[in-house]
Amino acid sequence: MGWVYAFTETKGLGKELLGGKGFALAEMTRLGFPVPPGFTLTTEACRAYLERGAFPEGLWEEVREQVERLEAATGKRFGGGEGLPLLVSVRSGAPVSMPGMMDTILNLGLTRAGVAALAEASGNPRFAWDSYRRLVQMYGEVVLGLAAEGFERLLDRAKVLAGAERDVDLSAADLERLVAAYQEHIGAQGRTFPDDPWRQLEGAVRAVFESWNNPRARTYRRLYEIPDDLGTAVNVQAMVFGNLGDDSGTGVGFSRNPATGERGLYGEYLKNAQGEDVVAGVRTPQPLERLRESEPELYEAIADVAARLEAHFRDMQDFEFTVERGRLYLLQTRTGKRTPEAAVRIAVEMAEEGAVSREEALLRVDANTLPGLLRARIDPDRAPDPVAEGLPASPGAAVGHAVLDAETAESWAGRGLPVVLVRPETTPEDISGMYIARGILTARGGMTSHAAVVARGMGVPAVVGVAALSLNLEERSFRLGDRSFKEGDVISLDGATGRVFAGEVALSEGGSGAYLQRLLAWAEPHRKLGVRANADTPADARRARELGAEGIGLVRTEHMFFDPERIPWVRALILAETEKEEREALDRLFAFQRADFLGLLEAMDGLPVTVRLLDPPLHEFLPPLVELERKEAAGALAPGETKLLAQVRQLHEVNPMLGFRGVRLLLVRPEILRMQVEALLSATRVLREQGRDPRPELMIPLVSTAEEVEQALAVVREVFAEFDLSLPVGTMIETPRAALVAGAIAPLVDFFSFGTNDLTQLTFGISRDDAGHFLPRYLDDRTFPTDPTERLDAEAVGRLLEIAVREGRAANPGLKLGLCGEHGGEAQSVHLAHALGLDYVSASPFRVLTARLAAAQATLQLTEPQDRSSAG
Ligand code: ADP
Ligand code: MG
Ligand code: MG
Repeated sequence: MGWVYAFTETKGLGKELLGGKGFALAEMTRLGFPVPPGFTLTTEACRAYLERGAFPEGLWEEVREQVERLEAATGKRFGGGEGLPLLVSVRSGAPVSMPGMMDTILNLGLTRAGVAALAEASGNPRFAWDSYRRLVQMYGEVVLGLAAEGFERLLDRAKVLAGAERDVDLSAADLERLVAAYQEHIGAQGRTFPDDPWRQLEGAVRAVFESWNNPRARTYRRLYEIPDDLGTAVNVQAMVFGNLGDDSGTGVGFSRNPATGERGLYGEYLKNAQGEDVVAGVRTPQPLERLRESEPELYEAIADVAARLEAHFRDMQDFEFTVERGRLYLLQTRTGKRTPEAAVRIAVEMAEEGAVSREEALLRVDANTLPGLLRARIDPDRAPDPVAEGLPASPGAAVGHAVLDAETAESWAGRGLPVVLVRPETTPEDISGMYIARGILTARGGMTSHAAVVARGMGVPAVVGVAALSLNLEERSFRLGDRSFKEGDVISLDGATGRVFAGEVALSEGGSGAYLQRLLAWAEPHRKLGVRANADTPADARRARELGAEGIGLVRTEHMFFDPERIPWVRALILAETEKEEREALDRLFAFQRADFLGLLEAMDGLPVTVRLLDPPLHEFLPPLVELERKEAAGALAPGETKLLAQVRQLHEVNPMLGFRGVRLLLVRPEILRMQVEALLSATRVLREQGRDPRPELMIPLVSTAEEVEQALAVVREVFAEFDLSLPVGTMIETPRAALVAGAIAPLVDFFSFGTNDLTQLTFGISRDDAGHFLPRYLDDRTFPTDPTERLDAEAVGRLLEIAVREGRAANPGLKLGLCGEHGGEAQSVHLAHALGLDYVSASPFRVLTARLAAAQATLQLTEPQDRSSAG
């Protein structure tokens, strides 16, 4: 096997070797699309290069041979001679799409002599010098590693000197002078631009290989969980020229709208330009739609290409093209990134068109993005007048403090401030700031600019190409039309309409929409896992029910205790010295609890509601020790507070997470346990008498032995007997010990609910609250591949679950099994729950949709081959 393959000879090779771009170029070539000829250096060549820091043996010979074949195919010579010289682009292409992450060099192979030949043969000296100018600049940045600003400054100066407003207004002579200035600039930094095409090619290939490890590529891979060891392919392709005049240009097309999912060709076009101009957002291009009138034939050709590409790859395509003197060439196609909204609509409509099956449509939507669909929107009826408008690049509303660079975004967001990133345009360096921002606003760029593409991929609302926006980075201020703002001022934006507002604008709740409803309806029959919600209030319960929750899997009763009106009674209970004081506090709390349970059970009438008995340590209900001690030191303790201080001291814990909480607390203070069970039974009875169908279940937290469960059950049964009413009783399995002795616990109870938050913390020996000191670094360098508090750790926590499921079911075949940690709303963890054969998962209300879809996907993935279109 070789290191290099022409686009025409890659049959049977896949994306992992050719990269996404190389694979698609070869595929389009094979299908007869107009693709300029070229060849691909495989990812294996990249890995070999990175390993030894040098080209592997034989690689360069293969490259030479391929270049000769390109010369033969195009009738041009690399480096020039007579007539048009052969110029190539050198393009990176990883197996997984990483937009803007790697660097591309155009017009490579051009030399001083070549410029003259190109000018002569094209009859267009301006074009020749423009191409050369771009090559020297790109080479300087990408291969020689010089800062872009240096070149931009010289370009701006050239424009000022020439009295030109835009790049295209520079004449051949202006550009020639500019190139000289570039060369000088490069020389001043001790580097040289090689006037030899082969050395150019070698430098470019090395740079692309090495760009696999640049910091922004690493960041992107971390954010999107892409493995670090794939490597990138390099594509070398004969150039076609969009900068030959007004009958030439370059553009980006989508076979459907990537923001909304709407059917039909969508995209942008820039006349007399080379590719990067569109993507980099340097000039704001025109919508493709306009070509329909001005150049109908071209428009039709592009629309036809879009439809054919989509039909072949069976998904929405994002393609790049160039028009050279009226002829259309395709340079890339890939499955288009899209907003969560668009993903749902496209999947549903493609299934309805018969292009894909419903099952496939279900598998195409990333379940973890669904909470984003419930994102707040700006209510058009209540919005004030906008201060500016731009392109609606990524839907959703954002309100936050304006920050003018990615670093500030990260540091302010790190302090908990919502931020909106305001930039002239974005570059891949801004990735981490974009990720953390509530919204993104840029002055330049179109719907396919870096900012727009990345924001849509991340689901961050964005407005781009706001012509009225100008920034002053020195003074940390900006203007929107005639209003000025300072960094830190609050602004709002609406990524669905492109409107920008001063100050904070009122938001309204989003809805799940008709397409999502349809998709979820298709999901239902496949789902084997039940889906419940974690809810503590009737309002949350109703919301969850609307979103399709089939019950409540976790009511945290302590949330009811924290209410400011009630906390004095909780304190009274803790501090009670006489039985009378204790009785009074309990009676009060009973009344509160009963009212809470009535509300919840009513909202969930006919569906199960799992009530967890009091879980947290008692000191959480008391004032902090330090506060009281400070008062004491200042001699400012109120009379009653001396006793309080003594109690707080007594209850103070060094390690509350491992302390006096859960079943331990309930066994030591059984009157609390009794009160809670009484309140639940009493509420149940009242509702039954009203003819309703309440279905409460009782759950004991934080057990680690069967004996604890037995003791708690003894108290519970006494109350059941008093009320002559009994309910299903279960226990949380959230300590590793409980999971390991599940076989002993199971016969005692009706159900287990896996509390994966605590189980994860106790398995790893991590406290979520204190993990901030090391977890970011662990995730950054992948010491932990993913955050185990977010995605269930299949290896160890999953193993504990597996043991508990197996031994629990063996000991009690009727045992019901649920999962109620945060993981219940994370798609991959839901798949694990499905694979373990649980009966249900319980998620926070806004993640119920995720759980429903993920549960259906879990079934489908286990029964269907996952990737039916390897071409996609
Ligand atoms: P990216 O991965 O950043 O999209 P590409 O390799 O696709 O980088 O290159 C960026 C742009 O450069 C392309 O969209 C295209 O317009 C232009 N380009 C690349 N190769 C050629 C070529 N052979 N001829 C003309 N333009 C090209
Ligand atoms: Mg690029
Ligand atoms: Mg591209």
